[in-house]
Amino acid sequence: EIAVSKNFIEQIIDKDLEEGYYDMVHTRFPPEPNGYLHIGHAKSILLNYGLAKKYNGQFNMRFDDTNPTKEKTEFVESIKEDIMWLGADWEDRLFFASNYFDQMYEAAVKLIKKGKAYVCDLTAEQIREFRGTLTAPGKNSPFRNRSIDENMQLFEDMKNDKFQDGEKVLRAKIDMASPNINMRDPIIYRVAHMTHHNTGDKWCIYPMYDFAHPIEDAIEGITHSICTLEFEDHRPLYDWVVRELEYDKPPKQIEFAKLYLTNVVTGKRYIKKLVEDGVVDGWDDPRLVSIAALRRRGFTPESIKMFVELCGVSKANSSVDYAMLEYCVREDLKLKKSRMMAILDPIKLIIDNYPDGEVEYLDVANNMENEELGSRQVPFCKELYIERDDFMEEPPKKYFRLFPGNEVRLMNAYFVKCESFVKDSEGKITEVHCTYDPVTKCGTGFSERKVKGTIHWVPAPYALKCEVRLYENIVNEEAGVYNEDGSINLNPNSLTVLRECYLEPSFDKAKAYDSYQFVRNGFFCIDSKDSTPEKLVFNRIVSLKSSFKL
Ligand code: ATP
Ligand code: MG
Ligand code: MG
Repeated sequence: EIAVSKNFIEQIIDKDLEEGYYDMVHTRFPPEPNGYLHIGHAKSILLNYGLAKKYNGQFNMRFDDTNPTKEKTEFVESIKEDIMWLGADWEDRLFFASNYFDQMYEAAVKLIKKGKAYVCDLTAEQIREFRGTLTAPGKNSPFRNRSIDENMQLFEDMKNDKFQDGEKVLRAKIDMASPNINMRDPIIYRVAHMTHHNTGDKWCIYPMYDFAHPIEDAIEGITHSICTLEFEDHRPLYDWVVRELEYDKPPKQIEFAKLYLTNVVTGKRYIKKLVEDGVVDGWDDPRLVSIAALRRRGFTPESIKMFVELCGVSKANSSVDYAMLEYCVREDLKLKKSRMMAILDPIKLIIDNYPDGEVEYLDVANNMENEELGSRQVPFCKELYIERDDFMEEPPKKYFRLFPGNEVRLMNAYFVKCESFVKDSEGKITEVHCTYDPVTKCGTGFSERKVKGTIHWVPAPYALKCEVRLYENIVNEEAGVYNEDGSINLNPNSLTVLRECYLEPSFDKAKAYDSYQFVRNGFFCIDSKDSTPEKLVFNRIVSLKSSFKL
């Protein structure tokens, strides 16, 4: 066991527990249901969930659904599915921020009564102007000194639908000269005539994020409210809200750096555009890094967990190579999955001296490095499929696979020697003819002579035909991810569909999300959308080799 130093968040938690400021740890994951979750969110989910587990605390799943403009029930369901799949079990702790609208309203009333909030009639543009800049202090609103009674009445009128959108807002009364612009009397409630997915038309005023979020955390008894770095300069406002509302042992906001993948599209708004433009086949297109897409591609929760742990938790923004995510899934799958033979680009191999119509069943270990996976029977016969590039008419130096006169090992079977080949009228190779040597059968201990190449194969009459999809990055990395106008430089080769691939017959029970190693070709997963028992469709999760080093 290696001693891993604690990350900065754990150090904060340790101190809070030691000093008795909190007596437990209570975290939450608070997505806005306005899109699908992506790999960056996975980091936040696993971090929050992991801390709760590690400290024997609690983890809340909370939909931060206080802004009705972009929120949809569809996203609530997909987010729950993704989080469950990642293994972050919230048990019975599922919450909706919109269920706290009454308490948020009461909190605003409390601030008004304390003289800490006022109704302001300035327009959005005037408010921006009055707010000042980083170098110039703001100016007080002419409505700043309204009496508590007047504010109480106006805020109630706001709630009771007496005003148009934008006509009035409620602002916290803090400090228009604060060096932190977030503290210059931020808006905490606005009039917005919108139907909410949960509360319908009950409300025509909605709280702003910076006001709502600390209240949500405090209501749920969250101790450490973990968010990303862009909220760092909102923290004084977070602290102001929980202090003025006089919560006991209020939550603490802690910021960490977002997870970015180099040359990978993660932002919801970009993914949305790709979906809307029909560039990809939905939010779960296997080229994307939404959780749904990663799942469909064949990534596992364990691989994603390993990835976010390797990335670590930091205060400094940085970007991680996609190859690291691939490394993690290879590591996770390599001992867990059967190593099967599948031919992606077939040519026929005919063993001229093998008896017509005969079949023998070879016992093949499913994973030589993991005996627990057992073995399977693979039929062997006269006609096989092999990969097209395992034969060359005129081989270059150091090519050890099939060429006229050369002998190779058929994986798990016999040595075969290439005797001849057949070309069609266009010069394309259609058949390779070999002879086999019965004494070379795998497992018999034959050692009289050696061959340099081993190739895989599937028995042609027993093979299952399938489709295989190979992927590259959806963006053209050389051209840079984004164009000047903000559009994405697409890689025209991000998807390759191979429609005539052949599998050993032992795939006949494969079902959605099952994954395998295809020897020499990588890890592949049954596509959950398009695969059928009659026609299996596989996604390549990742190839077997990479120059990536940890
Ligand atoms: P995006 O900007 O990609 O749309 P978001 O921050 O708007 O994401 P939310 O639903 O508000 O999405 O996020 C829920 C939680 O996930 C927040 O706590 C947020 O800080 C965290 N989060 C979002 N993106 C990342 C990321 N790239 N890395 C780590 N955490 C993230
Ligand atoms: Mg957000
Ligand atoms: Mg967002």
